[in-house]
Amino acid sequence: MNHYGARCQVCDLNFENKYGKVGKDFIHVHHIIPLHQLQQDYIVDPKQDLIPVCPNCHAMLHCKENGRYLSIAQLRKRILNHNRA
Ligand SMILES: [Zn+2]
Ligand SMILES: [Zn+2]
Repeated sequence: MNHYGARCQVCDLNFENKYGKVGKDFIHVHHIIPLHQLQQDYIVDPKQDLIPVCPNCHAMLHCKENGRYLSIAQLRKRILNHNRA
């Protein structure tokens, strides 16, 4: 969490900048590897496995498109393309 700060890793929305202190705790944390897929002795690396995202992008990460979840990179690309259009 401290590694990234309160910034969405998909759309770059910074909650603390935007909403001030109240936004700092509002960021969601997404597990890159679904928790049910982890081995029991797996040690979560917060830098690699936990990604701060805003609630909007988080919801998208949990939506399937054509039966597959979108990755952070795919979602990010989509938002960037959208902004450019
Ligand atoms: Zn976002
Ligand atoms: Zn999640």
